[in-house]
Amino acid sequence: MLTGIHFLLTYLCTFECDHCFLYCGPHTKGTFTLNQLRQVFDEIARIGTIESVYFEGGEPFLFYPLMLEGIKIARNMGFKAGIVSNAYWATSVEDADLWLRPLSELGIFNLSLSDDLFHDDEEEINAAKMALTAAKRSGMPASTICIEKPTVMTDVHTEQGKGTSVIGGGAMFKGRAVEKLTEGLPRRPWKEFITCPHEELETPTRVHLDPYGHVHLCQGLSMGNMWETPLSEMVKNYDALSHPICGPLVKGGPALLAKEYDVKHEDTYVDECHFCYLVRLALIDRFPQYLAPRQVYGLE
Ligand code: SF4
Ligand code: SF4
Repeated sequence: MLTGIHFLLTYLCTFECDHCFLYCGPHTKGTFTLNQLRQVFDEIARIGTIESVYFEGGEPFLFYPLMLEGIKIARNMGFKAGIVSNAYWATSVEDADLWLRPLSELGIFNLSLSDDLFHDDEEEINAAKMALTAAKRSGMPASTICIEKPTVMTDVHTEQGKGTSVIGGGAMFKGRAVEKLTEGLPRRPWKEFITCPHEELETPTRVHLDPYGHVHLCQGLSMGNMWETPLSEMVKNYDALSHPICGPLVKGGPALLAKEYDVKHEDTYVDECHFCYLVRLALIDRFPQYLAPRQVYGLE
């Protein structure tokens, strides 16, 4: 049952992180308009099962008035509202409080702040800490997300057995992370990747919506376009097994997806997402409605 809607309010961001699975950055295009937000909220109400609405990106604070208005609409409709931000706006605790106060008054149930080593100068790390301090002072529930450069631990006991290499750090190998972070990491045979370990593709509990209308089940894997088919209708009629990309992923993971469409591939990959992302990239011109937008694959 779908209970969470996450607005990718904008693809624009102050940073250009190596681990960004949406290829966001200072020159990336795509931002919701207020009118589009209103249209989506009408549809969210029609779905009838939504409990929480998140505003994220990119960096949603870059469009602060729009984010604020979206949160007002969400709260007036009775939804819990959350935000994911990189905290670039927290130049001091006192100043962070200026940004947070109007949000605090609306009742935010979670402010999730990136506090990771990829935003790696001292100033930026402190920004997240200052934002966290300001949020806590105002009583706003806040937490930090920390993603570090991939590290390799060998000879550890895991379900896969002794001597297996495990990659730490928390980065997901999709989007820019594939281009920037996979080199030199240990790999496993493609045949092992027979599931999607991270998304509930059959019965999604949350989707990410972007300004182009794409309804992301995973970054760049779309249920369809909500500017063409009303969101409530799309959600009601969604059947993973008849979706050309989710069907194979549900039945046999990236390995089956590659096999089903006869995609040429390498012998080994870092993990399921690494393989899945590259197979999807190879299929992007064949399924433009479902593998979109191109910019989250680093394409024009
Ligand atoms: S990971 Fe977050 S902070 Fe970094 S570029 Fe992507 S959206 Fe921006
Ligand atoms: S990239 Fe593929 S395997 Fe990884 S979470 Fe997304 S759909 Fe699942």
